[in-house]
Amino acid sequence: MLFRQLFDAASSTYTYLLADEQTREAVLIDTVFEQHARDAALLRELGLKLLYTLDTHCHADHVTGAWRMKVAVGSHAALAGVYAAENVDLALAHGDRVRFGAHALDVRAVPGHTEGCLAFVTEDRSRVFTGDALLVRGTGRTDFQGGDPGRLYRSIHEQLFSLPDDCAVYPGHDYEGRTSSTIGEERAFNARIGSGAREADFVGTMRNLGLPHPKQIAVAVPANLRGGRPEDGVLPSVPAWAPVMTTYAGLPEVAPEWVAAHRDAVHLLDVREAPELEGELGHLAGVHAIALDELRARVGEVPTDRPVVLVCRTGRRSALATQILRKAGREDVANLAGGMVAWRDLGLPD
Ligand code: FE
Repeated sequence: MLFRQLFDAASSTYTYLLADEQTREAVLIDTVFEQHARDAALLRELGLKLLYTLDTHCHADHVTGAWRMKVAVGSHAALAGVYAAENVDLALAHGDRVRFGAHALDVRAVPGHTEGCLAFVTEDRSRVFTGDALLVRGTGRTDFQGGDPGRLYRSIHEQLFSLPDDCAVYPGHDYEGRTSSTIGEERAFNARIGSGAREADFVGTMRNLGLPHPKQIAVAVPANLRGGRPEDGVLPSVPAWAPVMTTYAGLPEVAPEWVAAHRDAVHLLDVREAPELEGELGHLAGVHAIALDELRARVGEVPTDRPVVLVCRTGRRSALATQILRKAGREDVANLAGGMVAWRDLGLPD
């Protein structure tokens, strides 16, 4: 099984990508609205077909990326049915099984942090995605959204601590850089519920945490009850000048076919060394040439009347050139995907 753990620094949220390596069918657990481009790029670059976005619960600290992903790639949004949230395609309940290729996740209800918290367990019980029920050496808070410390205590004991000791724990968040743990470790060392803490011990601890009110709660909860759809249904603006794709490396790219069809609308800047422009790959008609090693010093020569598409042999040097122009304050810039090699392979005109 293909497995990736992704991190959103703004909310300290972990997003998990799981996929079947043969069928390429995938699921994403706890996507973050603002990380859509990153997650979509990873799916695209790995050639994966996203079947479901699964949310462990209705989050109070970030907005789910479920609706954005559904709009972009046609995935189905899954969340516990008890929230009765809008734009949810699969209302999950305890005992459900979510399949992707030859793999599956078993759904376990673990209420207590919120009333609808779910944990997802791989079929072989080697991994559990605990959301905010069980964190590494901690637990989710229980002071809002139907939270209940006694209920969380029982959920963790009955549904999570009943898993094998070596089952890996992947939490919904971590604020200290801890990425995972195991059930055995948490049973022994969890600071709130480990080493034989009784329900009364746990409830007493949870009632006295004195945590600040979550900053995002007034925005995040209503948005998550719409499945992550913005209130006006309008997605954050994408550049209007071209269908720019952001790569997993974080770089804006445009496809050679689009550039070939819109030559007059953009300014082409080739950053190869001068002799290369006359080499076997040649160069595109009307390109402006500034070699990469001179670009920082000559940024002022780059025309500003049209968006700029950066060109080199394979798209590596022009990727750096794209970043140089961005740092210089240009927003309407993108890299020619695959460079001159891709252009020639596609048989596009000079
Ligand atoms: Fe939470």
